[in-house]
Amino acid sequence: MEQARLGKVFLMGAGPGDPELITVKGLRCLRKADIVLYDRLAAPELLEETHSSALRIFVGKEPHHHTFKQHEINALLVSYAREGKLVVRLKGGDPYVFGRGGEEALALQQAGIPFEIIPGITSAIAVPAAAGIPVTHRAYASSFTIVTGHEASSPDEGHNVNWEALAALGGTIVVLMGVRALPRLTQRMIEAGMDSHMPAAIIQEGTTSQQRTLVATLASIADKAREQQFANPALTIIGEVVSLSQQLQELTAHPEIQNLFLSRAS
Ligand code: SAH
Repeated sequence: MEQARLGKVFLMGAGPGDPELITVKGLRCLRKADIVLYDRLAAPELLEETHSSALRIFVGKEPHHHTFKQHEINALLVSYAREGKLVVRLKGGDPYVFGRGGEEALALQQAGIPFEIIPGITSAIAVPAAAGIPVTHRAYASSFTIVTGHEASSPDEGHNVNWEALAALGGTIVVLMGVRALPRLTQRMIEAGMDSHMPAAIIQEGTTSQQRTLVATLASIADKAREQQFANPALTIIGEVVSLSQQLQELTAHPEIQNLFLSRAS
């Protein structure tokens, strides 16, 4: 009896927002895909790179809309691969930094579906950089920690963050998914022993043309972010490195040198 040929799933990072920050391997694979399942955070321009016959399915989470449950996304990946398709699962940033990429990989492994990870540039590092903040610097921080801002009780990410241990570590802290909980989070960090005057920044839609940055202190950032209506997608970075943000703002270059690749393609 003839055995149906299995397809393959590529769990792929789309990069932090700027569509040009996808990897070369990711873009090549995206152009070949039969099916693309994509999130809200993947840049829409990237979908234009897919083949005209490719099926594009939005599986992102939008508040107050029916969205795919995680087990439904897993089931779609498995069933398309069983039809022999080349499936791209396009996720914001890097597929294994939050966003449940690990769960999707496990579901594929358990179903016996061939899969491959194509890493992406995570927003946790690239977005601060785009706002003039290196996550480490010899004079200020020798470690950085990426934490979830979701509540400890959140079924999404699950684990408690040990804020006391982080305060004692003294490195840079990058908080993803923490806009709504920012008042509670910053309060918790101060209670855990962090300096309330520590520089802190919130950056919205980093690496895109909509990027906005607010620099304040650990004690004041939550109120100021609310006043200025910062909203998702945004991340918060806390640490001495934030003090470099003014100095390391990118200077505007000659127009010919901006958007080098986009202009070359046109
Ligand atoms: N896998 C992704 C993170 C998924 S969690 C990565 O590696 O980047 C989603 C969170 O990432 C958002 O709530 C936000 O905190 C952060 N994020 C993603 N893209 C962002 C952007 N362009 N600007 C600011 N924060 C961003």
